[in-house]
Amino acid sequence: MLLDFFLRFPGGRAKALTFSYDDGVEEDARLADIFNRNGLKGTFNLNGGLFRDEGNPWPEGTAVRRMTARQALRTFGGTAHEIGFHGLTHAYWEQMPPMRVAQEILEDRRRLEGMFHTLVRGGAYPYGTWNAQTVETLRACGAAYCRTTASTGGFDVPQDWLLLPPTCHHGDPRLEELTARFLSDPAERRPLLFYLWGHSFEFEREGNWALMERLAERLGGREDICYATNGELCDYVAAFRALRMSCDGRLVENPTSTDVWYACRGRTGCVPAGQRVELEG
Ligand SMILES: [Zn+2]
Repeated sequence: MLLDFFLRFPGGRAKALTFSYDDGVEEDARLADIFNRNGLKGTFNLNGGLFRDEGNPWPEGTAVRRMTARQALRTFGGTAHEIGFHGLTHAYWEQMPPMRVAQEILEDRRRLEGMFHTLVRGGAYPYGTWNAQTVETLRACGAAYCRTTASTGGFDVPQDWLLLPPTCHHGDPRLEELTARFLSDPAERRPLLFYLWGHSFEFEREGNWALMERLAERLGGREDICYATNGELCDYVAAFRALRMSCDGRLVENPTSTDVWYACRGRTGCVPAGQRVELEG
């Protein structure tokens, strides 16, 4: 008899939570602090060509205040958060020839990687716009994932990570209902991924930092949720999908260097990196 076999996140957890925030603005520091206090992890998508010059403050009342490179380093350097690309100059990629799109992606990556001494393997589409050629260019530039703005209102683990859809924006009217559903769903079978996106300057503009404070307290510190960046989840799901299974579904091999967790017939187990397990029938 074939056995059911579902993805479980690291530690055997059935649920994961991730955040994606764009543009590298000053309010990112306050948002990162909220994440830090509640054990949450985010991916911050930055434009390497748009950092504000040092010693050149924003005029009073400027709504979108990008960080200086030094502020960005102070906010994100050495933290659990991930740096993502968002294009060197925040251009409309689908309006540009592929060569220019490649320059926007690669030069952004190169600058951010140099700044943070890390690999920048994914990010978010500026303006959320794309076409088929943009996706091919991203692939050619070595991108592992790229987030759109097309909310799903659901918790499915994405199939195509180069067109990575979020669950919703933090200002979505369904946020409360989705949060309650995510927390109460027993997730006995399929895993759940709650993926929120936005811009931190929106909390300042809307005067609703309390919304994120409450949300972070409600979703943070829970044993049944895996807190991870976009890239960590992308890599983990790739490792799960690389598992090899025998025809009768009983033997599972893990050829990767990542321990992979699963649920089978209501039991949770792990296939350690580089090993093979026999599932209990
Ligand atoms: Zn943006």
